[in-house]
Amino acid sequence: MSERVFNFSAGPAAIPLPVLEQVRAEMLSLPGAGMSVLEISHRSKWFDAILGEAEENLRRILAVPKGYHVVFLQGGAQLQFDMVPINFLDAEHSADYVLTGSWGAKALEEARISGSARVAWDGKPERWVRVPRSSELDLDPDARYVHFTSNETIQGVQFREPPDTGAVPLVCDASSDFLSRPIDVSRYGLIYACAQKNAGPAGMTVVVLHDDLLARRREGLHRMLDYRSHVDGGSRYNTSPVFPIYVFGLITRWIEREMGGLSALTRVNEEKAKVLYDALDEHAGFYTAHAERDSRSVMNVTFRLPSEELEKEFLAGAAARGLVELKGHRSVGGVRASIYNAMTRAGVEALRDWMVEFHTAHASS
Ligand code: PMP
Repeated sequence: MSERVFNFSAGPAAIPLPVLEQVRAEMLSLPGAGMSVLEISHRSKWFDAILGEAEENLRRILAVPKGYHVVFLQGGAQLQFDMVPINFLDAEHSADYVLTGSWGAKALEEARISGSARVAWDGKPERWVRVPRSSELDLDPDARYVHFTSNETIQGVQFREPPDTGAVPLVCDASSDFLSRPIDVSRYGLIYACAQKNAGPAGMTVVVLHDDLLARRREGLHRMLDYRSHVDGGSRYNTSPVFPIYVFGLITRWIEREMGGLSALTRVNEEKAKVLYDALDEHAGFYTAHAERDSRSVMNVTFRLPSEELEKEFLAGAAARGLVELKGHRSVGGVRASIYNAMTRAGVEALRDWMVEFHTAHASS
């Protein structure tokens, strides 16, 4: 197949076409280097420039205030499930976890290997259909941090605003909505996000953390697991994931120069999500959205059809139209349309058209 399809994968996910084109143009020889980006040292001057730009762009796009460190790590978001408690929990301190889906629940299990962690709210009894209001949280004022997942990729539920945790630092797994909208970084102690949704290919995780929280980490940790090593090493404590950081830099450029920054991008993303949610609402009874209205994700639109047979037929018909990777996660079933930054409005409209056509063909049967 040589035509590009519309890729609705939850991650690794679509990358903006202009970014892929630039990667291709520079693949054999990075300008000035005479070598591929796949071949340069993480200590070379070419990587100095790449890393410097990636960090600067991120700081500008997200308006990261003073006092925050930015590091690019390997190990994926799940390494952060471990590094956060390993660094910050000790015999005297526990943490609170807000559970709105599968990833947050997994983060809690990992935290409990290192220390004590409480559940501040659990959406599982309601089948992960919504996020809580801050008034529903059972918070420990002495907790070392409160962990939450801003967007639960599998269930498709998303916080509009981070929970209010008073003086307790917020730690956010922002893997699947990072760089999709502006956030007020000053409200967080630590934000982490794996790259493979909005921020590039798999193999890199961005961590933004405040110096005050860093100062409270435990001493004597294994160095690869210690945030201090990576902060002091300027994201080069060990060999940096050179290629994903390079692509990340190109994506941040694309966000600023072609999409007009995060405020403009968030409007585009909201409009795309509305196209699909409107289609679900107009054909409610046939299509059933998984998430409650106020918690619906702008990034992962999850829904069911009246039967598994119809779901199979829907997915097969979608694939035949070049709309791929729409199968819901096995734990939720149904359909999941991941519509990150790189998914175009045209792709979303093609999916909407297929939803309408499929409804017309099957609604009365
Ligand atoms: N958290 C969230 C919200 C995710 O969507 C994912 C990946 N789908 C992860 C954590 C795990 O990421 P990784 O595979 O990079 O460890």
